[in-house]
Amino acid sequence: MIKLKPSAEKLRAYFVNDVPYSVKLDANEGSNYLLNDVFKIDNFMPDLYPDSDSRSLREKVAAYYRCEAKNIMMGNGSSELINTVINAYCEKGDKVMSFVPSFSMYRTYCDLCGAEYVGAETESDFTQDMDRLILGAREQNPKIVILCNPNNPTGYVTPRKDVVRLLEEVENSLIILDEAYADFSEDSAIDLINSYENLIVMRTLSKAFGLAGIRVGALIANVETVKYIWKVKIPYNLNILSQYAAEQALNNIDRAAGYINSVRKLREELSGVLKNLNFTVYPSGGNFIFVRSPVDNLFEKLMDCGVLIRKFDYEGVIYNRITVGTKEENEILINEIKKLMGVSI
Ligand SMILES: *Cc1c(COP(=O)(O)O)cnc(C)c1O
Repeated sequence: MIKLKPSAEKLRAYFVNDVPYSVKLDANEGSNYLLNDVFKIDNFMPDLYPDSDSRSLREKVAAYYRCEAKNIMMGNGSSELINTVINAYCEKGDKVMSFVPSFSMYRTYCDLCGAEYVGAETESDFTQDMDRLILGAREQNPKIVILCNPNNPTGYVTPRKDVVRLLEEVENSLIILDEAYADFSEDSAIDLINSYENLIVMRTLSKAFGLAGIRVGALIANVETVKYIWKVKIPYNLNILSQYAAEQALNNIDRAAGYINSVRKLREELSGVLKNLNFTVYPSGGNFIFVRSPVDNLFEKLMDCGVLIRKFDYEGVIYNRITVGTKEENEILINEIKKLMGVSI
């Protein structure tokens, strides 16, 4: 098992005395008098600390991801979990590797704990040569390797055989697979958690479930790894409103497939239109597309008409990441781009 940094290793998981009671005077909780009239929900007790282990929610999350509740640790968004894991394993001087460009927050979390972020180059079309990451990991001996699949911001989907190759060939690093967008691409490594003890999969309700505001993410790993990491989990990290809302959402999970399909369809439509307008569009497995625009300063110009996209400067070249919106939102975007290009609408 890959070891936590020494100062985290010596910690013990926060203990919550969870026994039946008639009077609860153990946690300095007040009584709820401000929200009495606001939330009319059965068994909703904002005066008490939430279930620190999100047990009921984990059962539902496990059913959706086809694993067991004991394979899961919930977090305040997967952001909290990614930060917690990097911070728990790495101390000053430890290395974290991932392909670049990838999710910019990895570097931030490394900076926060003094870890050194080492990038492996992607190819000029943003496909990834897994050999580079594997050889890089052999050379650098990083504490953690992070693979964002599908990759944010490029949309690249790592073929399953490459994910397996990474797991087979890099045994001495913790491997985090950030699958924030995997619901859109179908392929996931969750079924591999019992084969690789050093594998942690991160999922979130923020993207394909459309619930970014409730901040719910899940860390999914082998039981031993989950138990081991539990000692660095922040007690009560997921509040009752989030736990409640996430459970309600998972009760409606049969609607997810339809939503995901519609986003994929809209993604392909939007990609097609932009290609016809001479954009370079990179294939994407997420709910966004990564493009090079024939219009200079597209980000700034669209912002002036109230349309927000993202801009990335990668090795001196400007790229844009555009979230796939609703049909209406995409039409507004396309019309504004056509106006900028002087193409008739
Ligand atoms: C959005 C995103 C996350 C974080 O999602 P949360 O809202 O914190 O659950 C993590 N990784 C990537 C690559 C993302 O794009």
